[in-house]
Amino acid sequence: MYSSFVSVIVPCYNEQQVLSETYARLTQVMQAHFTRYELIFINDGSRDATLPILKMMAADDSNVSVLSFSRNFGHQPAVSAGIANCRGEVAIIIDADLQDPPELIPDMVKLWKDKACNVVYAVRSNREGETFFKKLTAKAFYRIINYLAEVPLPADTGDFRLIDRKIINAFNQLSEHNKYIRGLISWVGFKQEPIYYQRAERFAGSTKYTLGKMLKFAHSSLLYFSHKPLRMASSLGVISVGIAMVLLLWVVYNIIFLPNQLVHGWASLLIVIMFFGGIQMLTIGVLGEYISSIFDEIKNRPEFIIDERINFLPETTIE
Ligand code: UDP
Ligand code: MG
Repeated sequence: MYSSFVSVIVPCYNEQQVLSETYARLTQVMQAHFTRYELIFINDGSRDATLPILKMMAADDSNVSVLSFSRNFGHQPAVSAGIANCRGEVAIIIDADLQDPPELIPDMVKLWKDKACNVVYAVRSNREGETFFKKLTAKAFYRIINYLAEVPLPADTGDFRLIDRKIINAFNQLSEHNKYIRGLISWVGFKQEPIYYQRAERFAGSTKYTLGKMLKFAHSSLLYFSHKPLRMASSLGVISVGIAMVLLLWVVYNIIFLPNQLVHGWASLLIVIMFFGGIQMLTIGVLGEYISSIFDEIKNRPEFIIDERINFLPETTIE
């Protein structure tokens, strides 16, 4: 039995099929190991019966509280809302679909106590029941982001982790609007320890991370954690100027030393024009990506809009 107050943050988007099982397993684990806990479910604009199910749970159990968004804002904003509104000494971020086993929570808390660390991040040692495509894209994503990012981002970790008050407070001070949570938690520093687990299959339903959402996620994590694409764009400029100089020397050499050989110019001209045109478009595109994220940030819109709060005391909620 632990006396620490633990908050569990569960983002939910169209999860009607899994919620009662998730609630049952979480409650079982939490009641067996912790004297004080809260389960914060964030309804991320679900279009199915997620919200009514959550409301029923909250009516029966005062350990359950619910934040309901005005529309679907996405997984990362949902987790952010949970972190901003949790009251615990430590918070656990966990998926609603039981791919992250709730039974690992006591082990995470134990490790947090034993190692006196601030973050315990769960590393999946294998993933069951996910498509080859998902595994491949996930693997490629972690390799690329680690190469490009300026902070180390542990491979094969999701958002399933324990964070303590120091991290929660540091995180809540970050003012960027498009948050890549695992990157930011790594970025804030403090003492972080891994814990290994087997990633299970989704309990029911299908993935809520569509390809579009995965791409948006990869895109913003890359832009917000790396300046390398910009540097690569300038290196490309240097390289292309280099190639142009070599070609120029070759042409001059031909004119001076091999005047009788006819140089058919149109094909090489076309290639060179297309090559440099391509590089210019690419570079402008990279610039555009950064400018559009600057634009997003200066608009200063909130990360999410909360429609309803259930079982939150008004004085303890933080906007
Ligand atoms: N999720 C969310 N908003 C979204 C998409 C997903 O809150 O727009 C939640 C979802 O309900 C789940 C977690 O994020 O609790 C992870 O989603 P999912 O299991 O579908 O992703 P996968 O495990 O397939 O990567
Ligand atoms: Mg899942």
